[in-house]
Amino acid sequence: MDDAKLDAMRRSFNIIETRKKKLLKDENERISKLQERVKKIREYSIGNLEELIETAKNRFLENGMEVIFAENSQVALDEIYKLIKDEPIIAKSKSNNVNEIGLSAFLGSKGIEIVETDLGDRIVQMDPESYGPSHPIGPAAHLDMEKIAQIASKKFGVEVQPEPKSILDIFKADIIERLTNCNVGITGANSVAAEDGALVMVHNEGNISLVSMKDTHIVVVGIDKLVRTVEDAVSVVKLETIFATGKKIPAYMNVITSPSKTADIEQVLLKDMYGAKRVIVILLDNGRSDALKQSKECLLCIGCGSCIVSCPVYNVTGSDFGYRGYLGGRGIVLSNFITDNKICFDSGLFKCTLCGLCTLECPVNIKTNEMIEKLREMSVQSGVCPDEHHGTSEKIKKQGSPF
Ligand code: SF4
Repeated sequence: MDDAKLDAMRRSFNIIETRKKKLLKDENERISKLQERVKKIREYSIGNLEELIETAKNRFLENGMEVIFAENSQVALDEIYKLIKDEPIIAKSKSNNVNEIGLSAFLGSKGIEIVETDLGDRIVQMDPESYGPSHPIGPAAHLDMEKIAQIASKKFGVEVQPEPKSILDIFKADIIERLTNCNVGITGANSVAAEDGALVMVHNEGNISLVSMKDTHIVVVGIDKLVRTVEDAVSVVKLETIFATGKKIPAYMNVITSPSKTADIEQVLLKDMYGAKRVIVILLDNGRSDALKQSKECLLCIGCGSCIVSCPVYNVTGSDFGYRGYLGGRGIVLSNFITDNKICFDSGLFKCTLCGLCTLECPVNIKTNEMIEKLREMSVQSGVCPDEHHGTSEKIKKQGSPF
């Protein structure tokens, strides 16, 4: 990432950080209690994941949704393709799980267009050179207004002024127009309540509401997002919002438990009122079961991105330190399981300074540095480590000194 992008990203991070620190100070007791509650919720989830998966599958079916369990990305992609292969255009909202499986590139290769509906994601999508996403909630945090105006001017063929409202208006008009041609919407979910068969999604723009109202709503969600109840899921997303944005609550919190229905005529249940006719949940494992055995703490993550805001390495490298939307040290740990050891290495396994600032900033205190050390050991044992390390280890073995 170049200096201009890093500067823009750090400016954006400073704003989030200042707001978050003030909120944590003003509402210390309430937020500390919420943190403790969420830690317990997440620990229970990770400790009982198999049971929660089975419960969720049954509840989704009872609620009238469809469920697909995808062991890996390819299964998820194939299943999605089967569902949408006749559609020329698909609406999508921000989702690390969808990005993880590489859906945009896959559907692009099949001639199906994906419309990102989150403004930041759409900006990043329109400029392949723009890197990103650079923050889980602010994907275009690394782009300043001048740059975004340039991207818009190039893409829309008109002179767009570097002014927020002009930029918003032109992107919004284009997204709305494309949305009218979409029959399928694809989203992730921030948290999933297994016992209630409920999907909880948070957003500020209202775009998830629009996407989830399409005839077919496909939800791709990692099994690590499962918790027991809606109350638990709401606690998780509240904490995520606080640590991601420095705000108390998001503008929208959607809870989806079934396709659209009504029983207003003599209690006769009819489907297909205003919302989706079909809701299909793709529960994505993709290495998470392995992570559960080897590095289960990384599955406690609630995806707030607080760790990258303070990370000294992320602040000088940006999204190069991470894998797809999984940014920073914790993202690198997860990449070892959702991809492989080599991609984990390329994502920056040996760039981490092990300073531990991420743990201090993490609302659930994930010890990323300890997981990184363990993965480095495994990586070296399998022969994947920086070239310089070979020379150093040889010197230590021969001379008892790295020098
Ligand atoms: S590791 Fe912690 S701070 Fe980082 S994204 Fe996950 S929950 Fe947030």
